[in-house]
Amino acid sequence: MRIGIDIGGTKILAGFIDDSGSVISKRKVPVGRDKRYENVKTAIIDLLNDMLREKGLHRRSIKKIGIACAGQIEKGTQEILFSPNLKWKNAPLKADMEKYFKIGVFVENDVNAATYGEWRFGLNSKPKDMIGIYPGTGIGGGIIANGVLCRGFANVGGEVGHIILNPFGYRCNCGNYGCFEAYCGGSYIVERVKRVMREGYRGKIWEIARGDLKGLHAGHIEEAWMMGDDLCRRIWAEVIEYMGAGMASLVNLLNPEIIVMGGGVVYGTKYLVDEAKKAMEKRAMKASLEGLSVERGKLGEDAAIIGAAFAE
Ligand SMILES: [Zn+2]
Repeated sequence: MRIGIDIGGTKILAGFIDDSGSVISKRKVPVGRDKRYENVKTAIIDLLNDMLREKGLHRRSIKKIGIACAGQIEKGTQEILFSPNLKWKNAPLKADMEKYFKIGVFVENDVNAATYGEWRFGLNSKPKDMIGIYPGTGIGGGIIANGVLCRGFANVGGEVGHIILNPFGYRCNCGNYGCFEAYCGGSYIVERVKRVMREGYRGKIWEIARGDLKGLHAGHIEEAWMMGDDLCRRIWAEVIEYMGAGMASLVNLLNPEIIVMGGGVVYGTKYLVDEAKKAMEKRAMKASLEGLSVERGKLGEDAAIIGAAFAE
């Protein structure tokens, strides 16, 4: 048995995972308002102790703990160098957890972990080359090339969301302009729609969201796009084209056999994957499209805990 943990910006998901990659049981707890490292570490330890007790398992029966966390992970020590949603710097989670549980711990970037999980356990086929694209709040990504998860020289590669699609484009949270994420990340898309609504725009989107700007998400915007709302037709069409352009760039560069798409924006919309695929096909080189399939992730929120539990 293995344990997989996914530390998100608002919640921690942990599960027991068997050797075939199936989640046997899982629990989710909020991160809490105080996201300081010591607090979250304690929350994780308490959660795991509870889960072990509940299952009547001793920690010695656990082969490995895999932790998925957004941000950059140091190559050797696996310290979490920087975590954008928790604002951690140099967090020694691997070392602290190993010291406490006396079990081997592996820390992986969350979307690398999700991509690896989908690749190893979510697919029917066994492709050697795959790209994971996860538009959620921002855009995370993962690359499997020749059967290996590509982490790059300093372990910070695969940042699909920050490839630059337009150097004069929208401002990205990384400080740059025109990143893939700035065009197709959920929080950016929603903010562009909200800004116009705050200025007084009404229309189908207002009805769909029932005037609740706080609860607005990509699914609402896609629905309004379908219904011909002027604002959402413009903004969602841009999302589709840039999604397709981002995918085409990646496909031309890496020539994958499959693209797996996940994340809140994908799971929350109905047509985006198909529309983006069409936009990609208009732009990518013919040869790179040969035999390529584009699919939604099958493991959903479990992908990262499964991937982290098996990543090495
Ligand atoms: Zn960026």
